[in-house]
Amino acid sequence: MERSVDIAVVGAGFAGMYTVVKAREMNMTVQVFEAGTDVGGTWYWNRYPGARCDIESVEYSYSFDNTLQQEWEWTERYAPQPEILKYAQHVADRFDLRTDIQFSTRVMSAHFSEDNNTWTITTDKDDVVTARFVVFATGCLSSANRPHFPGAESFTGEVYHTGEWPHDGVDFSGKSVGLIGTGSSAIQSIPIIAQGSAYLTVFQRTASFSIPARNESIDRDYVAKVKSAYPEFRDANRRQTGAFGSNIRRGETSALESTDEERWAEFERRWDEGGFGFLSSYNDFLLHTDANDLVAEFVRQKIRSIVKDPATADLLMPTQVIGCKRLCLDTGYYETFNRDNVTLVAVDNHPIERITEHGLVVDGVEHTFDVLVYATGFDAMTGSLLKIDIRGRNNQSLADAWHGGPVTYLGLNTAGFPNMFMVSGPGSPSVLTNMIMSIEQHVEWIANCIAHMSHNNLSVIETTEQSQSEWVAFVNAVADKTLYPSCNSWYLGANVPGKPRVFMPLIGFPTYVDKCNDVVRNGYEGFVLA
Ligand code: NAP
Repeated sequence: MERSVDIAVVGAGFAGMYTVVKAREMNMTVQVFEAGTDVGGTWYWNRYPGARCDIESVEYSYSFDNTLQQEWEWTERYAPQPEILKYAQHVADRFDLRTDIQFSTRVMSAHFSEDNNTWTITTDKDDVVTARFVVFATGCLSSANRPHFPGAESFTGEVYHTGEWPHDGVDFSGKSVGLIGTGSSAIQSIPIIAQGSAYLTVFQRTASFSIPARNESIDRDYVAKVKSAYPEFRDANRRQTGAFGSNIRRGETSALESTDEERWAEFERRWDEGGFGFLSSYNDFLLHTDANDLVAEFVRQKIRSIVKDPATADLLMPTQVIGCKRLCLDTGYYETFNRDNVTLVAVDNHPIERITEHGLVVDGVEHTFDVLVYATGFDAMTGSLLKIDIRGRNNQSLADAWHGGPVTYLGLNTAGFPNMFMVSGPGSPSVLTNMIMSIEQHVEWIANCIAHMSHNNLSVIETTEQSQSEWVAFVNAVADKTLYPSCNSWYLGANVPGKPRVFMPLIGFPTYVDKCNDVVRNGYEGFVLA
């Protein structure tokens, strides 16, 4: 393809799809490139057993079209991956989005020309598209992290990564499985793989805190109530720190102000309810270690009471601050370690030494299996962007501009890269929110900006070095007021060896939205328009 369009978009997940909707509203031409064979982004790739969203289904969906949100019917409290993918496909059909998307195509480069202020995008299918604007809708958790272990190529069995799961599924029956990782993807898949396989060995580097999801069939009365005032429900969610959970009771006092009995009763109630509301019983879990210790100890006691073998229970005991790594929600995770066909191996003090033909070696001991599953997460927030050869002014690469860590203004743009937008880029609330709410807010901001430029005959928008360094300092200053930076999380890039440590997501959706709106009201303050 050789084509010139107003907007080139990379990625056809929820962000790329909505960008098509907005571009058409503005009567602009748009070309999306997507590596997968269909829409859905993260829900297209993450097809591992048990994959589901931890945000309730009535919230994790588009709000931009009232008929769409009224008509779509979810079946479970937390939607499973196949249903979310079906929803994305339904949206693509309903708005006829696929005509502007070229599938099975990976963007290789995006270069800005200062001569004519356009971007040139090339792909692995030899397409060349020029565009006034480029929108990276590449997702925050879309670049699989596959740690390199010596001997990895020598393994003769089947190998999978949770984030790149085969479309036809995996038949584990009668097979032994080794699974590396105990983050959200592992915690969802482990109970199901354990049930469906002959034997499962889990290799754990850091024990995670996990809370029961209490997933169930959706409560139709609750759905009817939400739908009777859906726009108001969405607005109430947008006012929450994470843009979700307006139905969660939020404690407004410190955990330290309650008696032991009151606290324990409250934690029990929340444990029984399940879900992220567990950490909302008091207002200071992520502010004070004393408060955090109380709730962390409650979870540790739960683990002790569920897991029968004391040595395994000890290994499963998380020691970090609860919530500083993304909290996991599960269905029968800790219970799974009571099964006869499941073993937990700690690889913290003795890291995985190497992979062999039939398994892997830890502390000199070889563990053998037929199937190896990497549940090792993602090169989050920057990985997918930096895989593309993105070049701005003076032929400077994004990799070079971000060598010390990602620098953006509002997570939307980087100095030296005019007319380039990121949807939910580093420096925006993104992964600490209901992603679809964040995506809608970003895409609408970008669309309004492009419309403003067209109406005012402006050809270039770009942030400044000063705006972005102040913004990065602000994002980190907000994080530093909390306990978030206290552990080696992927929010900090700590899961990928050599990645610069920068706290990437901004905490606080409503403040962020106010800031974005103020920027516009003040004539795109912090940007230079020409
Ligand atoms: P993750 O949280 O980063 O977990 C990766 C796991 O692999 C961790 O236990 C990590 O240990 C381990 N690991 C990485 N490198 C290793 C190595 N060299 N040796 C041994 N262990 C290693 O990744 P994820 O589980 O895919 O989840 C990523 C994010 O995606 C989540 O936090 C969440 O935001 C999102 N997600 C959401 C859902 C949902 O909504 N239900 C489900 C899945 C994922 P360390 O902890 O020591 O680094």
